[in-house]
Amino acid sequence: MNIKNVLIVSAHPDDYELGMGMRIKKYTSAGVRVTAITATVGEYKDSPRGRIKQEKEAGRILGIQEQINLELPCSRLSEFSIDFRNRVEKIVNDIKPDIAYTIYPNDLHVDHEVVSIHSLVAFRSVKNVVYYRVAYSRGFSPNLFFFGNKKLLEFKIKSLKCFKEEIRKSGTIDLKRVSSLAKYEFHNHLHHRCTDSVRKSLELGETVDLLFEPFYIERLISF
Ligand SMILES: [Zn+2]
Repeated sequence: MNIKNVLIVSAHPDDYELGMGMRIKKYTSAGVRVTAITATVGEYKDSPRGRIKQEKEAGRILGIQEQINLELPCSRLSEFSIDFRNRVEKIVNDIKPDIAYTIYPNDLHVDHEVVSIHSLVAFRSVKNVVYYRVAYSRGFSPNLFFFGNKKLLEFKIKSLKCFKEEIRKSGTIDLKRVSSLAKYEFHNHLHHRCTDSVRKSLELGETVDLLFEPFYIERLISF
């Protein structure tokens, strides 16, 4: 698949950094154009501007060329779902992505569900659509495995460190958990003979950690 133009949609600053920070950095390092849309600034009562500054910095670390925040209200996205969908669709029509990523649909956070369901409609014209996982995804069993490396994981962690408050108070971002999932979780899904082949392809010795991010394919079109 020849990918030159990627679109990623999220609900809050920190969603795509958590779900696919390594995948994004791999794209941008290869010169692929990445546009990221976030529905809300992730505001709190005591912080009306939310995490918009942190998101900008995290996006810069990951090399994202264009970051668009729709500034819709956090935790009330369901009231603005049509507006969200229309604005995402307009961006889709403008940039015509080769592949679009959105949040996995089964999720305990209502904003995540709204983003997933309505971005899928907005992606009607996009050939390739893939879901990434965020903190509250339920029943997520990946069928697409991205294997990164230590350097890519370092960029992902660095981008997540921009969200100091989320690390400190809410536990939404747990850096140890992020590293452990990257390192161990694929064993629940892939036979060791498969991961042995991955090691060979990547020319990695037995002592080097395989590091992955999980995805779920909605559709991939090939010719
Ligand atoms: Zn979120």
